[in-house]
Amino acid sequence: MSVVADRYQAIVERVVQAAQRSGRSAELITIVAVSKTQPADALIAAYEAGVRHFGENRATEFAVKHAELAQLRDANWHFIGNLQTRQSLPIAQYADHFHAVDRVKIAERLSRQLVEIGRNLPVFIEVNVSGEESKHGFQCGTWENDDRQRETVLQAVATIAALPRIEVRGLMTMAPWGVDEALIRDVFRRTRELSLWLQTQLPDHDFSALSMGMTDDFEIAIEEGATHVRIGRAIFGERH
Ligand SMILES: *Cc1c(COP(=O)(O)O)cnc(C)c1O
Repeated sequence: MSVVADRYQAIVERVVQAAQRSGRSAELITIVAVSKTQPADALIAAYEAGVRHFGENRATEFAVKHAELAQLRDANWHFIGNLQTRQSLPIAQYADHFHAVDRVKIAERLSRQLVEIGRNLPVFIEVNVSGEESKHGFQCGTWENDDRQRETVLQAVATIAALPRIEVRGLMTMAPWGVDEALIRDVFRRTRELSLWLQTQLPDHDFSALSMGMTDDFEIAIEEGATHVRIGRAIFGERH
C-alpha cells in the first residue's frame, strides 16, 4: 500500500469514530481530499486508495489537473478556493461542487456561464462566523444579535439561491487558526445554527450540507454537524 493509502485509511477511521461519537452516520460525511499543489501522481495514488473527491483551490491548476486526470472518470472535483471573477470559466465547466461563494457577483458570473454551457453547479456559501478580518465569506461574526448583519446575509443568500443553474447546498466555513478547541467548536456550532436559520427563512432551498473541518479540526467539525470535510495535509503530507 502507498503512503497516501495508509494515511487515507487512517482518516476514514477517524471520520467513522467522530461520527459514532456524535451519533451520526459516517456514510453521510464526504471526505474531500485537498490535492492542491500535489502532482498528478499523488492524486492517482489517492484514487487507487479509494479517494473519489478531490479539492483544488486555484483555477488554472484545477483546469490542468482535470484535463490530465480525465481517466479518473468517477472522480468528483470540488473547487474550494476563493475565485477571482475572471477565472470562473473552468469552475463553471468542470467543477462538481464549488465551496467558496463569498460574494453575489461571483455567483452571478458562474450562473451566466453555466446557463450557456448547460450544466448545474452545486455550491456552498462561505460565511465568516469567526469575524476575523483576514477571512473570506459573508460577514456573520455577530449574526445572532445583529439584525442588520443577519438581513444582509439573508438577502445575499436569497439572491444567490435564485440564480439559474446554481444549486445551493449549504454553508462553508473556516475556523480560526491556533486557538482553543472551545472557540473552534463554537464557530462550527454557530455555522450550523446559521444554516438552520437560513433553512427556516428560505424553505424552498436546501441548506442541509455543511462544509467545515480541515486536517487540524475535522473531528470537531464532524461532531458539530459537518457533512463535507476538506482534508489536505493529513492525506497527502505537508505541502511544498
Ligand atoms: C488547503 C485547504 C484545506 C485543507 O487544509 P489542510 O490543513 O491541508 O487539511 C481546506 N480548505 C481550504 C479552503 C483550503 O484552502
